[in-house]
Amino acid sequence: MVKVGLTGGIGSGKTTVSNFLLDYGIPVYNSDSKGKTLMNTNLELKNNIVSIFGERVYDNGILNTNLLSSIVFNDSTKIEQLNNLVHPKVAQDFNQWVGKNNNKPILVKEAAILIESGAYLNMDKIILVVSEKSTRINRVSKRDNSDLDSIEKRINHQLTDYEKIKYADYIIENNSSLENLKLEVLKVVNKIREVN
Ligand code: ATP
Repeated sequence: MVKVGLTGGIGSGKTTVSNFLLDYGIPVYNSDSKGKTLMNTNLELKNNIVSIFGERVYDNGILNTNLLSSIVFNDSTKIEQLNNLVHPKVAQDFNQWVGKNNNKPILVKEAAILIESGAYLNMDKIILVVSEKSTRINRVSKRDNSDLDSIEKRINHQLTDYEKIKYADYIIENNSSLENLKLEVLKVVNKIREVN
């Protein structure tokens, strides 16, 4: 089995690529959405989050993601503290998922901070999705109805594509149509299948 990490900056197209991978029959684990689920369901994680960020980040047991984001936004120490709590739980949950899918030849783990978190070290191959910054900002603002400045700020907090490229085995450029992206994804899938 090959474990493939899938990463890319905000709005680069990771989830879109994941959906194409699913179309090609490849199981994908979405670390970011799993992390959010675990923050609402894992008791130990919830208690640890409350001990750092206070009771107010949960409304009747449901995480107030907007409030938590506003607390950690612009505060790298707080982001790191949060990641240090969530990351081990996601890693554990991912390992269980791998165990359940151990008959599959290729498994993909999608994560925005795959490289920054060190999770890439447990992957056999890395796919990096890249796209022009202005395109990413436009796509995200359309998707989330958010303002351009806040998206740019979030982008500037992440590692640049230039810094991530050195970790990548496969680079998918997502600057044109979705049809073209789907073909690019297939090319990468075929390359991974060829060498394994
Ligand atoms: P985030 O890091 O914010 O979770 P992401 O990297 O997962 O983002 P997506 O959600 O896949 O990015 O893509 C961002 C938006 O851009 C989505 O609305 C998606 O439908 C759209 N999109 C992605 N690629 C293309 C494309 N080639 N053409 C048109 N729209 C696209």
